[in-house]
Amino acid sequence: MQTLKILLVEDEQAIADTLLYALGSEGFSVRHVLLGREALPAHIASPFDLIILDVGLPDTTGFEIIKALRADPAGRDVPVIFLTARADEIDRVLGLELGADDYVVKPFSPREVAARVRAIVRREARFRTSNEPPTALWRHDPDAMRIEFHGQALAMTRYEYLLLALLLSAPGRVFTREQIMSRVWAHAPDTDDRSIDTHVKTLRAKLRAIAPQSDPIQTHRGTGYSLLP
Ligand code: CA
Repeated sequence: MQTLKILLVEDEQAIADTLLYALGSEGFSVRHVLLGREALPAHIASPFDLIILDVGLPDTTGFEIIKALRADPAGRDVPVIFLTARADEIDRVLGLELGADDYVVKPFSPREVAARVRAIVRREARFRTSNEPPTALWRHDPDAMRIEFHGQALAMTRYEYLLLALLLSAPGRVFTREQIMSRVWAHAPDTDDRSIDTHVKTLRAKLRAIAPQSDPIQTHRGTGYSLLP
């Protein structure tokens, strides 16, 4: 397995040092930056497999950084673990659908953080292997923004494509409405979330036109949508 690259954004050097040591000894390659504004450019220049993000930073907050990451194609899908210190930060991490994958509360043990990282890595690896290809039913060419279903290319609008590509990135995984909004409509934050249902409906019609018996997009009431694995 290739070395996993992690970006650590943390302004307290002592905390960073313990994490650098713990994650380094697990075999991860960790780059550390002290300031929030360094995070996105660093990730764009050389994408990381995972980002550990302190919420309280001198120049910005982890919340602003994850918003910027999710709004950028390079950072849309990178797993993020928040490091939070105060109760009100924890409330915000839990209360806001920022698309974070996990969070750890300070003070933490570096082992705990390493364990969270390993859990996310395992999960992502599962998605990747199931994604390539999930079944022969699907073929996805992200560079061409093209998806084939039963060997036929789907004619889709931009948002239909982004929505289907998201579901296809992890067949079987339920994406919440908030996750879909923040990833598919990242550049149109004022979009009404009923757009999701509208786009699912048109996508289903297009899929049915190719394979009348199939209904690969699953509705999870009160939660969101998934693609049949
Ligand atoms: Ca801090």
